[in-house]
Amino acid sequence: MNTYLTGRILLGRLPKGGDLLKEITRVVTENGIETGTLMVIGAVSKARFGFYDQEGREYHYKEVDRHLEIVSCSGNISLLDNQPMVHAHIVLADEDGNTVGGHLAEGTVIFAGEAYIRELKGEKLVRSYDKPTGLSLW
Ligand code: ZN
Repeated sequence: MNTYLTGRILLGRLPKGGDLLKEITRVVTENGIETGTLMVIGAVSKARFGFYDQEGREYHYKEVDRHLEIVSCSGNISLLDNQPMVHAHIVLADEDGNTVGGHLAEGTVIFAGEAYIRELKGEKLVRSYDKPTGLSLW
């Protein structure tokens, strides 16, 4: 475990109609945040998220083309190939309170997104290929 000090905290709204993962990545990149954590609540007009098949070692993606609440979206920011990489998971609820979720993927469209991004100061988290899992981990 590394120890970090809190750097800047960004709190703001993500644009309606934008792609949730791309917009978080844009904000992080524009602000030069290389290590951090994030949370988002709000709503989406459609969603796309993945499930990692641990045997097949690949993501299976699911698309849900309906309006959903972002119950929780949390993740972290690290470096992959010297670029900030956002890794986030999302839980979404429909009008009956039924939830779906997984690894946030491009294709999730923002209806409203209130984002909290916390920069962390300390040793950089750098992702690299992890043979036991087949994932890029830090
Ligand atoms: Zn994930």
